[in-house]
Amino acid sequence: MILSPGATVGVLGGGQLGRMLAMAALKIGLRCHIYAPEAEAPAYDAAHARTVAPYEDEAALRRFADACDLVTFEFENVPTATLEFLQTLKPVRPNPRALALTQDRLTEKTFLRGLGLETAPFADVADPAGLVRAVRDLGRPAILKTRRFGYDGKGQTMIREGSDLGAAHLALGGGPMLLEGFVAFEREVSVIAARSLEGAIASFDLCENEHERHILARTRVPARTSPALAPVAREIAEKVLAGLDYVGVIGVEMFVARAAGGAERLIVNEIAPRVHNSGHWTIEGAETSQFEQHMRAIAGWPLGSTTRRGAIEMRNLIGEEADDWRDILAEPDMSLHLYGKQDARPGRKMGHVTRVLRPPEA
Ligand code: AMP
Repeated sequence: MILSPGATVGVLGGGQLGRMLAMAALKIGLRCHIYAPEAEAPAYDAAHARTVAPYEDEAALRRFADACDLVTFEFENVPTATLEFLQTLKPVRPNPRALALTQDRLTEKTFLRGLGLETAPFADVADPAGLVRAVRDLGRPAILKTRRFGYDGKGQTMIREGSDLGAAHLALGGGPMLLEGFVAFEREVSVIAARSLEGAIASFDLCENEHERHILARTRVPARTSPALAPVAREIAEKVLAGLDYVGVIGVEMFVARAAGGAERLIVNEIAPRVHNSGHWTIEGAETSQFEQHMRAIAGWPLGSTTRRGAIEMRNLIGEEADDWRDILAEPDMSLHLYGKQDARPGRKMGHVTRVLRPPEA
């Protein structure tokens, strides 16, 4: 099914990703209906319509599906049952299987290994005794993560020499977990890529990401790796997209580490089945933004050019950093984005700033 201009795309989730998706949709003649449980959410301002209801409310989901031509999501913790229900009513892109698989770190890593890709060594941890065994197998340091509902460093804890394993297990809530061997990485990179309904793939240039307190602080493009690494990273993203029979934009996060002989190697950390924070730079920095690209892909339209417009630096405005908005506006080469959030709580993503250093005019 291919959308016509004027069609309505339903978006599950009301955060800044939904807001920027809705803004991009408008540019190409589509409109968005946002579905989210929160009374206030950044995406509502940019949307044609909203439904404020829990993700489990079948009557509200049915009305939402009636009002939309197609459904997508910007929030990866939407219950899979919600997407499966909606899929009986309207097309859902990307497919619910891609979301289900990436919601659980164990199925995600098993899938990546199945594609022949390298991940951190990992072990399933079902109970405290399982953690003791996993630490014996993988050694220390290691990172204990909840299998589900982790983001921005939530739901994970480092196991160091001397760490109390029982306390670590308890601190993460005692549910299903995964232990990961610690990767001594040189840098973190990501590929933002899209796959169309016909299976065409377009990738943006390799991004380099710096995290502070587990939250993305800065993205630089191009990544400072050897030139040979970018096509390898792109191939990894292509394998993931094809393996998930994916339609839409995906973010694939990877670590750059050194092999024994000194060569760079890529270790896949995580798949985000949605537009991604490390792709925000594409709004000013690429011929097509990741948000427009996602809309094009799910609409069944041709993908846009991913050509980069210069050297890029994107910085997230976390918590009170957004109070500097006036100074940022005074910088001629900085492009300010604010997400309309009222409450600048510590650790909350309030906006971002992009700088594109353009090559001299020909
Ligand atoms: P995640 O929630 O899995 O994306 O992890 C958040 C951040 O923690 C990553 O961006 C890394 O900086 C760090 N991290 C996660 N897993 C590992 C690992 N196995 N080894 C080293 N650092 C990690």
